[in-house]
Parts: sequence; C-alpha cells; structure tokens
Amino acid sequence: MFFRDIVGQDDIKSRLIRGAAARRVAHAQMFHGISGVGCLPMALAYAQYINCENPLPDDSCGQCPSCRKYAGLVHPDLHFVFPIINKKSSGDDGSVCDDFLPQFRNEVLKNPYLSLQDWQEALQEDKKPIIYTREGDEIIRKLNLKAFEAQYKIMIIWCAEQMHEACANKVLKVIEEPQGQTLFILISDNIENILPTIRSRVQQIFFPPIDVEHLRRELKSKGLYNEASEFYIKNAKGSLNQLYKNINNDDTNAYYLRLFIDMMRGCWNLNETTFGSQWRPILEQLTSLGRTSQTAFLQNAQRELRENFVYNLSVDNLVYMNADELDFAQRFARFVNERNIEQFMNEFALAEAHIEQNANAKYVFLDLMLKINELLKLNMNP
Ligand SMILES: [Zn+2]
Repeated sequence: MFFRDIVGQDDIKSRLIRGAAARRVAHAQMFHGISGVGCLPMALAYAQYINCENPLPDDSCGQCPSCRKYAGLVHPDLHFVFPIINKKSSGDDGSVCDDFLPQFRNEVLKNPYLSLQDWQEALQEDKKPIIYTREGDEIIRKLNLKAFEAQYKIMIIWCAEQMHEACANKVLKVIEEPQGQTLFILISDNIENILPTIRSRVQQIFFPPIDVEHLRRELKSKGLYNEASEFYIKNAKGSLNQLYKNINNDDTNAYYLRLFIDMMRGCWNLNETTFGSQWRPILEQLTSLGRTSQTAFLQNAQRELRENFVYNLSVDNLVYMNADELDFAQRFARFVNERNIEQFMNEFALAEAHIEQNANAKYVFLDLMLKINELLKLNMNP
C-alpha cells in the first residue's frame, strides 16, 4: 500500500512521513475514526514506508525487496491480529488468526477500506467475529521471534475493540514494556470499547471523515463520476467504503424507494371499499422479504420521510435525495410536515424494533399501514 493510494487524510500522511523521516516512531499507536475513513490502508502504507529500503520523500519506493513483499502483505515481519470465529472443535486448542491469514490478506488486498461487517460476510458467519484470549499468547510468541529482515517488526491489530479482555490485558503488558524495534498499530472504529489503560498508553491519531472534494476526485479518477454521484457522496458521510457501497447498492435502493412509494400510495387510498385490493399486494411483498431486508426497508423509509420533511421546509442544501426521490418528493413532501413527522418516525422506528424482536411481520406491517393512513389523513385537516 502506498500513501498515494489513500484517499484524503493528507494531514495524517504528512505527519507520519515527517515522523518516520526523523526516526520518531512511537512504538504503540492507535488509528481510529469511523469505519471506512482509511485507518487500515494508512497503517499499511506507514508500515511499508518505515521498512522501505529506499524511501522517497513522500512515499515508499515500491521496488525494494521489502516493498515487494508488502505489496502482497506477505512480509515475514508484518503480523496481523483481527477478529475471527473459532472453527475448531472443543478439545483442540482453537483457531488463531494465522488460520485465516490467507483469506484475510485476500480481502484486504481487494478492499483495504473493508469494515468488520464485510469481513464477517467474507467469513460467511452470523456471529460477530472476535479476537480470542489465545491470540494474546500468539502475539507474545511472534514478538519473541527475532525480526527476520526488517528494521521494524510490525503488529497491526485491526478492530482492536473486538479483543477479548484477557487478550487486551496481554497486549497492554507488551506495550508497557516495549521491545526493540517493534511497532504496534491498533485500529478501531469504536475506541470507547477499548480498555482505558490501553488507550492511555498509545499515541492516538484520529481519522476524520474524508472530505467531499477528495471523494469526488476519487470517483472522477476511477471514471465513476456521474449525475448521481453527489447524492452518493453526501450519503457516504466521509467513508470511502460506504461510498462504494452506496454506488453498488443502487438497485436495492431503487427497489426500496419503489416499495416506499407503493406503500404510501396504498395507505393513502386505503378505505372500506378498496381495502383489500390496495394493501394486500404491498403487504405480501413486504412480508416476503427476509428480516434483514425488512429492517433495511424500514430504515430506508425513515430516511425518505426525513428527507421529504426537510424538502418541505425548502432547505435545499440539506436535502440528500437522488433524482427519483426528488421526483416523488415533489408530490409527496407536502404530506409530511410538523404535524405528523414525529409520529411518522416513531411508528416506523417501532415497526423496526418489532421486526428485530421477531414479531410477526404481517401484523407489524398491517398495523404500520393503518397508522400511516391515519397520519396522512391527519394532514388533510390542518
Ligand atoms: Zn521500498
């Protein structure tokens, strides 16, 4: 990984480069910020740079033996700790990160901005992966190995907040007693869940959301910039990973919007005579979705309502809608206003909570649609 491959975060880049040039490298550092802002790619570029044999003023050379091994993340002095799922049966010692290393390398090379959820999906697991207690012993074992060839031995602990407490305590011990040229880089998008004793002993570097201009430039450089891009950029909230997800999820979002429009129309037209014919097809569609999609739809619907409310207030620069959403908002927004927005949001949030608690989806959605009907009509008599 090169510094030049990292989107934005210029201040952090130059700070790390200056420190490395002056040989001021804190032995334990923590890169933190929301997911997708570049903590892991920065750690990789930094590690590659401080071990590069012919570093340039602003990046690694890319040619030396060390850089070449870094390109495949296979340098023998580069160690990774990351959340996993124990796949060994009881009686065995249990899985360790090294068992998953080839897969992890693959995923990181594919997308260095990946999130814990992406990794969990790659593992095809329902459970959230964690860093087990036994990994603590692995870390100590690796630190006791002599550096094979590099100037710095690097230990990257990704998603450090997922460390089991016993493992975290072992890590704490080793960072309290630094050994030779070892660099620990802890990475986290949730530092509140990291032991305060660890937090106080590492040099923390906060990664802010990536600015809009850099995200725009990134899409342009990849030839992906078009009329829909500004919408995706705004909704990425500074996360490159989220930006690409937004682009790739375009079809899903269009589907949810379609469903939202049908739902609102059906609810508006709901009355004694049209009752069955209006709600049944939508209700069937909603109940046929899986629970995860139902939750995603409800979250999406809450965003639509919020955006329509803002649109209604005519605060243009705060409206984050794409062309199709705007088209619908021109007709629908007037139905969402200060008289009903709060109840609208509450009803959708309640439905979402019920779905998550495994309530019967058919009743949840039927109930929701009756409430929407009331709220839309409520608007008619100001
Ligand atoms: Zn090099």
